[in-house]
Amino acid sequence: MTDLTFETTLADARASAQGLLDFIDASPTPYHAVDQASRALQAAGFEALREDTRWVLEPGRAYYVVRGSGSIIAFRLGTAPAAEAGFRLLGAHTDSPNLRLKPRLAKSAHGYALLDVEPYGGLTLATWTDRDLGLAGQVSYRAGETVQTSLVRFDKALCRIPNLAIHLNRTVNDEGLKLNKHSHVAPVLAHFAGEGNPSDLLKEMLAEAVGTTPGAILGHDLMLYDLQRGAFSGLKDEFFQVARLDNLAMTHACLCALLATPGDVPQTRVIGLYDHEEVGSLSSRGADSSFMQDVLTRIAGDGVDQLPRAVARSHQVSADMAHGVHPCYADKHDGTHSPVMNGGPVIKTNVNTRYATEGSTGALFRLACQLEGVPVQEFVNRPDLACGTTIGPISAGRLGVPTVDVGNPMWAMHSIREMAGTADHVLMGRALARFLVEPGFP
Ligand code: ZN
Repeated sequence: MTDLTFETTLADARASAQGLLDFIDASPTPYHAVDQASRALQAAGFEALREDTRWVLEPGRAYYVVRGSGSIIAFRLGTAPAAEAGFRLLGAHTDSPNLRLKPRLAKSAHGYALLDVEPYGGLTLATWTDRDLGLAGQVSYRAGETVQTSLVRFDKALCRIPNLAIHLNRTVNDEGLKLNKHSHVAPVLAHFAGEGNPSDLLKEMLAEAVGTTPGAILGHDLMLYDLQRGAFSGLKDEFFQVARLDNLAMTHACLCALLATPGDVPQTRVIGLYDHEEVGSLSSRGADSSFMQDVLTRIAGDGVDQLPRAVARSHQVSADMAHGVHPCYADKHDGTHSPVMNGGPVIKTNVNTRYATEGSTGALFRLACQLEGVPVQEFVNRPDLACGTTIGPISAGRLGVPTVDVGNPMWAMHSIREMAGTADHVLMGRALARFLVEPGFP
């Protein structure tokens, strides 16, 4: 970080980061994140589309479409047909690692009702202990002869996973907290001495929340979340911490970038915010689904060559958070590709295509940053350590669009509470907004 960059953008940066914290606090699940995004788009004049209806799209106008509650695509049509001006695409993911409830919600042990949960994605399990946990998601229930699905959120300390006392786990500091995913991770919900099924305790609560009876509930997608709200930290508020930064931070940045772009440019600008990245993206609505291709086909219009022509003129950013160098574990990074907090967006490169970046696609993002006066950093994973991946290579492969992988630096990725630099969020927003409209791209 150059102090100048941070100081000159501080007011802007703080407001932008606060907007992100509010978005994340309102989005305990991918379904809520998509709901929040839909509301923001609607408020900005974007029109809702449904995949099961005919679309009549008008140049210069803006639309969005949701698939399966957890994924959303929004776009603003260019003044030129897509086949002539191409697409500018931004992609991010809406899901984060967490604990999810099994079909049978709870079990009983030693006079307690315990939630029956399964880890989703690669979470740092130990960070979920001794935290106040709320519950949110969606519930599907019978309504007459059909099924209705509603969002639910219980924003209170409903349950906790208490740690074992150090007196009963003497090696915990030397060996780390080792949790068995099956037997040690059972959030305590209530006293339960009685007969019957402990799941009924929760079913009654769910039924009341959606206005039905416990017997009418036919399915659920429920997950736990950290109740602690986002906050700033550091001497000058130069950091902030909150849950689900990976990857609601980039979801929010893509959304803000699209909302900031004007209507009168030739390119059609599209953002794809996908569920299921943390578990591989292969689902009916993940980045490895037909969702984006289906939408782009409909935008491009009739004619076998419309979509391929549009794709051949298109460029994509895959935005997902990046690992900032940790001052106590600097040797985990490649020394010359070690991003720092508040140093600006990071371009992620891996020659084995764990990231989609190539010299030519990285160049376009660097150009957008240069034109916006945004500093840019580089990340390459140490080749002797396993490298993570993103939706970048997957969506580049599915769509055939050259792609650059970027993200903002953060610490504690996949912890229940992650941390990032205050200046970086607004810088990324500017870079992405420029990428969407920059006329100089080939
Ligand atoms: Zn991610």
